[in-house]
Amino acid sequence: MLSVAEAQARIIAALRPLPIESVGLDEALGRVLAETVVSQRVLPPFDNSAMDGYAVRAGDVAGATDATPVILPVSGESRAGGSPDLSLPAGTAMLVMTGAPVPRGADAVVRDEDTDRGREQVAVRVAASPGTSMRYAGEDMAPGDEILTAGRRLRAADLAACAALGVALLPVRRRPRVAVLSTGDELVEAGEVPGPGQVADSNGPALAAAIVEAGGIPVRMGIARDTAADVREHLLGAEGCDLIVSSAGVSVGDHDHVRDVVEALGSLDFWRVAMRPGKPLAVGEVRGVPFIGLPGNPVSSQVTFELFTRPALLALQGAAEIHRRRWPARVLDDMAKPDGLETYHRGVLVPDDGDGVPGVRLTGSQSSGVIRSLVLADCLVVLPAAGSSVRAGSLVEVIPFGQ
Ligand code: AMP
Ligand code: MG
Repeated sequence: MLSVAEAQARIIAALRPLPIESVGLDEALGRVLAETVVSQRVLPPFDNSAMDGYAVRAGDVAGATDATPVILPVSGESRAGGSPDLSLPAGTAMLVMTGAPVPRGADAVVRDEDTDRGREQVAVRVAASPGTSMRYAGEDMAPGDEILTAGRRLRAADLAACAALGVALLPVRRRPRVAVLSTGDELVEAGEVPGPGQVADSNGPALAAAIVEAGGIPVRMGIARDTAADVREHLLGAEGCDLIVSSAGVSVGDHDHVRDVVEALGSLDFWRVAMRPGKPLAVGEVRGVPFIGLPGNPVSSQVTFELFTRPALLALQGAAEIHRRRWPARVLDDMAKPDGLETYHRGVLVPDDGDGVPGVRLTGSQSSGVIRSLVLADCLVVLPAAGSSVRAGSLVEVIPFGQ
């Protein structure tokens, strides 16, 4: 059986990044940048004030205190949006607003609240060293600086950088279209009342949402019944998608048809991974479209999505970082696990109590059917394959959600 890391590597090796398209800033959030953004501008473009106050020569206000203020005539005003082409006559102060150009000759800004706010002349009550409350041209970005590297998933702050640099169109990878298929005779759509023996399809909505979070576009294929013919028909409906994700029907039961149908329509690379939850995981292709068949239990399908499908979606988008980061944490409960299977429990992080790492507790029952164990969790707790328990106090790795 493959380890989690081997299975991840096999899935990624079979994928190629999708084509590049160009999008405006309002469509760019969460998209993966295809080319590095290099600054062509000096930012800020001119020396400007960090405060509302008075631009001065620091030397002119040396020694100013509350008891012995320095009085300077006010030689004008520099407003945000005004010309950067002003000069400060020696021995005067100029009113400046936040973001307004600082006049030539000035080397410091005294805050409003450190003066009497005079308009003809101003009493300055503090000394200022050169550079006080100044924002210098180019201190943020200069031409030639690499600001955002290719492969980065764009965040709100990145869009601020692009706008400031005048980059209004961004080259990004096309979003993957992902077919989402639930399988099972027992399933009804979420809005329907389950009859005897039936349960709501909870994987479909969860996987579709997780696909959106990972930058993809879910294409719902509905529910296939547990017959080879119905599974086949639904899988064929995924033509034109970039990836197919199904749930359930991949283990060894009499009514598990997904693997056989995938092999008949395409090929199966592997179908088991040495992990809990989620040992059955079928990976292959259907008529050339990459296929990941997740296990059916709600927790298993979401945990295996996290570990295998989310990285696949990010790889299709050319992302540089496709796996969530792992951090050390100390387990606060004894944790049981099956020997030989790398185990991904659901945990809640507890602030560091002084030993340098956060603690982590389990979210109640870790049965793979207990959706609440995931609802309550803010991380996955990774327990190594070897051994049948991890004692409280041990160091483990955790994978926080949202990083
Ligand atoms: P299977 O992999 O088909 O043996 O299913 C394993 C378990 O997951 C069973 O209890 C199924 O009822 C449950 N299950 C399968 N698919 C879904 C789904 N889409 N939503 C909720 N539970 C499911
Ligand atoms: Mg089933």
